[in-house]
Amino acid sequence: MPELAEVEVVRRNLETWWQGRAASQICIIDEDLLEDTAPDDLEEALLRPLKHPHRRGKYLICHLDGGQSVVFHFRMTGKIIRCDEAAPKYARLSWHIPTVGWLVFKDQRRLGRAQLFNEEELADYEPLRKMGPEPGELTVEYLRQKCSDRRLLKTALLDQSVVAGVGNIAISELFWRLRFAPEVKCGHVDDDEMKKLIDEMPRYFDEIIARSMADEVMYVEEANMQNIFQVYRRDGEQCPRCGAPIDKKTVGGRTSYYCPQCQP
Ligand SMILES: [Zn+2]
Repeated sequence: MPELAEVEVVRRNLETWWQGRAASQICIIDEDLLEDTAPDDLEEALLRPLKHPHRRGKYLICHLDGGQSVVFHFRMTGKIIRCDEAAPKYARLSWHIPTVGWLVFKDQRRLGRAQLFNEEELADYEPLRKMGPEPGELTVEYLRQKCSDRRLLKTALLDQSVVAGVGNIAISELFWRLRFAPEVKCGHVDDDEMKKLIDEMPRYFDEIIARSMADEVMYVEEANMQNIFQVYRRDGEQCPRCGAPIDKKTVGGRTSYYCPQCQP
């Protein structure tokens, strides 16, 4: 499932493939992708050059010449890839960039969305308006103010209004790196540990982005996918730090992977 890092990989690819260029042909394969946007409007907009792709949390905002923006949300399985054909398996929307190829919104579970906004609508779009700061912009004071002592740290960090872009994978990985117990409450993390978390978050995402750069970003849930994570989906395997078997349990409604020895 895409989190900040995977969306950022797509953003960087679009910067290379699409920025400054206009599509010459558009295929809307699955109109359900568009929600409230009329297919004709999206087609017309995509014929304008891309000014800049911007990421905010797990959202990708493509600012087009003329003031409109297409906001992509990938949800579970969505992604944008470059392809030689317009309609590979699971394609929902494709647009052709001359000399580059087809850019294809591919989405096996069909939960992703692409919506067109003008400037005013974009400024008013609730998921973006309510989104908390990016992981690199946090302070201990801010987190303390947002997270009551009794709240699970995991739940607080997964709340996109507290911090943008963090998902369940990042939680397992960060908690393992910092030796935090999966069910630690905000009040049990002292200021030094909170500071370590704040410093580690952008570092973690930068590493995952660097390791994930490819024409097609891959999600760990996909078949035959190489697992680049240290504990996520590695239950039963040895902890890379101490050798104890990695375990998993449900915390805050989502599975946490952790080392019982390193994260007591
Ligand atoms: Zn361990």
